[in-house]
Amino acid sequence: MARRVVDGLHLLEVAWPEPVGANAYLVDDGEVSLVDAGLPVPRRSLASEIRDAGYEPSDVDRVLLTHYDVDHVGGLRGLDLDVPVHLGAEDLRLVRGELTPPWSHHKGAFHRVMRRLFPLSECDLRPVDDGDRVGGFRAIHTPGHNPGHVVYLHDDLGAAMLGDLVWESDGELVRPWRVDSYDLDVLAESVDRIAAEAFEHACVGHGEPVSPGGDAAVRALAARL
Ligand SMILES: [Zn+2]
Repeated sequence: MARRVVDGLHLLEVAWPEPVGANAYLVDDGEVSLVDAGLPVPRRSLASEIRDAGYEPSDVDRVLLTHYDVDHVGGLRGLDLDVPVHLGAEDLRLVRGELTPPWSHHKGAFHRVMRRLFPLSECDLRPVDDGDRVGGFRAIHTPGHNPGHVVYLHDDLGAAMLGDLVWESDGELVRPWRVDSYDLDVLAESVDRIAAEAFEHACVGHGEPVSPGGDAAVRALAARL
């Protein structure tokens, strides 16, 4: 069931099977943004979660993808949306084959297979650069997990859409798995950058949102890394 995090922000419970499945979120600030989309085969469909939150899929004005991984983009396949789909510029190059990591890189090899299976060719993809504003969001390039990972900050709602910059486990924020990340040193620098921001609601891709106190939880992780 979709759950309210704060007025205007719902967690869509498509994170199944855990911990592989990822959360999606719906943000309504006058325009409706879907943030990430879960796996292509969730236990509960993304469309039914959107309806649980009180909306129809056709109400969605845009999609924001934190990064290109199947647990965050696969659910788009089941939604027939004719709206812009925003994705970090480096991850967009990855999808389009303009950025080709070596087969010898553990996650690069994974991406070279995934982009054949999930090319997002049905999507109206738009590149997102550091500092871009997309609707009510501010985009911050946060590489490490993926080269084009982006955190979307919504200052009016006090929410940070963190994707896989960090995961939540037992109430605290932790690093994502090394095997699932490009470069954890680069990721630590990105965590530092987000730790300098102010927000109440830390909306993670994996685990439960940390709310309130989201920014303090990121700072606590930054201090440990
Ligand atoms: Zn993920």
